[in-house]
Amino acid sequence: MQQERVEPASRSSNPARQAPRGSSLLRDSQAQFRAAAERLGLDPGLQRVLETPERELSVALPIEMDDGRIEVFQGYRVQHSRLRGPAKGGIRYHPSVDLDEVRGLAALMTWKCALLDLPYGGGKGGVNCDPSLLSAGELARLTRAYATALVPIIGSRIDVPAPDVNTDERVMAWLLDAVEQQTGMHDPAIVTGKPLALGGIPGRGEATGRGVALITLETLKRRGIAPEAARIAVQGFGKVGGQTVRTLAEAGCRIVAISDVSGGLYNPHGLDIARIITHTRNHPRGLLEGYPGEDADPIGPAELLTVDCDVVIPAALEGQITEANAGAITAQIIVEGANGPTTAEADRILADRGITVVPDILANAGGVVVSYFEWIQGLQGTRWTLDEVRSRLDRMMLDAYDAVLARAEAERVSLREAAYLLAVGRVAETAALRRTATK
Ligand code: GLU
Repeated sequence: MQQERVEPASRSSNPARQAPRGSSLLRDSQAQFRAAAERLGLDPGLQRVLETPERELSVALPIEMDDGRIEVFQGYRVQHSRLRGPAKGGIRYHPSVDLDEVRGLAALMTWKCALLDLPYGGGKGGVNCDPSLLSAGELARLTRAYATALVPIIGSRIDVPAPDVNTDERVMAWLLDAVEQQTGMHDPAIVTGKPLALGGIPGRGEATGRGVALITLETLKRRGIAPEAARIAVQGFGKVGGQTVRTLAEAGCRIVAISDVSGGLYNPHGLDIARIITHTRNHPRGLLEGYPGEDADPIGPAELLTVDCDVVIPAALEGQITEANAGAITAQIIVEGANGPTTAEADRILADRGITVVPDILANAGGVVVSYFEWIQGLQGTRWTLDEVRSRLDRMMLDAYDAVLARAEAERVSLREAAYLLAVGRVAETAALRRTATK
């Protein structure tokens, strides 16, 4: 949740004028797609169709700030593909957001939804802003302006947004309300990740982290490693990382390092997760900052990736494991909680070193799977229980993992390559059928 904050005079909440960081995410996801398309022998025309985003929206969002100033924020929505169903994917509020980042993330959603066999295409949205510098009122006005701009291109059968980095159920509530005010119609299936009282589903908040933890535990099991014997480092302690840590700690794993935007904590014998959670619950912005250090040493988010451990879970932002640090990773298993945390160069280094990488489009798919349940609930006007959500989520994640493992073994490729072969193959099949049908 964002806090009411007075913006410091020296900082701008609208970083649009800052130089873009440049994201390798788009380049890497395209390369991954092309490699799969070639191995599958896809026709070059079909390849071009599948790598070109179907629709892109770029909007200027003028917002009146609390002090009366007008700021103009830049917002985006990219519908990468709607071949298998409505575009599906979250909305990110972050200073790194630009069109290329959103394009890369939208493509990842297409492959993720196809891999889990959800009846969706892929999309993503974002607003270039630093939400930690916005008051609740400014954030609400920004969200409503963005939602209004999205009205012509979203809908429960067109494109269904959801939360992503720095957006939560409160932001989804504003979005739903702004859209319904424009259209004059109740349509809870227009957005997922909503509060329960607005048609949300139990278990959506925990879903991504629960899925990441489940995939991690399954990977350990297949290696014959007991949870109690596993030392795990998790980068990111937000919606995804926080829940991943909680679930793994409950399963008995030793969490040796965690980090968030404010810093990190390390204890080779295992951190006291219950005590840390109590600390973050009492922190005004839910951060690790200020945690009493007697049972943990401070550690930076980059250093965390290379601590002595068995599993590393990057669950923050993209581009964290690069050619600069991939050689120094000691873990034998990496489970990608974030979207695109490993660059293509790093992926090659890790593969050469025999390190297993469970790819993002599988490992973090729990969120969109439960979004799918919430969407069904909204379309049907029914209610799911938490037990139903959890058991169906677990089964779908494990089935997808089995399929990826089988493909990887059959074709002697990495788990990421196998996941892309399955996903791209499914979308290509749909595309080919649609093309035949319109001839
Ligand atoms: N933002 C999440 C993701 O990257 C969830 C998207 C959704 O639920 O539509 O998978």
